[in-house]
Amino acid sequence: MKLKIIVVSAVLLSVIGIPRWNQMGIAAEPATERQLLSGKVVSLAEVFERLDAPMDKDAAPYWLALETKEGRRYPLLKDAGARMFFKDKSLLNQTVEITGRFLKGTEVLQVFSVRTIRAGKRMEPYYWCDICKIKRFEPNLCDCCRAPLEFREDPATK
Ligand SMILES: [Zn+2]
Repeated sequence: MKLKIIVVSAVLLSVIGIPRWNQMGIAAEPATERQLLSGKVVSLAEVFERLDAPMDKDAAPYWLALETKEGRRYPLLKDAGARMFFKDKSLLNQTVEITGRFLKGTEVLQVFSVRTIRAGKRMEPYYWCDICKIKRFEPNLCDCCRAPLEFREDPATK
């Protein structure tokens, strides 16, 4: 009888799939489709201010969104993919293309890659140490020589 239950459970698990568990012990949901979106990254604090819903000042720096031409605003997950927007204000309020995905059940956008547009050309923005030839995707001091990384854009190959 016990064996039967185990066999049935094993069959069921193989059908419904075994959940993947992350470090927090929370079952990971299957990823949603990768998307290419165009728009401008804006401060949601400023948007909310105009909507007569000012947010706490300490929270404001963490609320950025991609605003599309259609006027939709998708909050950005602040992780390595979107960090350049949170650390470099010069990237806000200009046309960008973002490849990313929506986190299931939300309109939160996880950023995989960023392209800026210069004179109609798609560019890859990055931060560079010319001494160490190190490329990063957020403004920082160089991991190696501690000099400030320099912002650069190269024509995007993809
Ligand atoms: Zn360096």
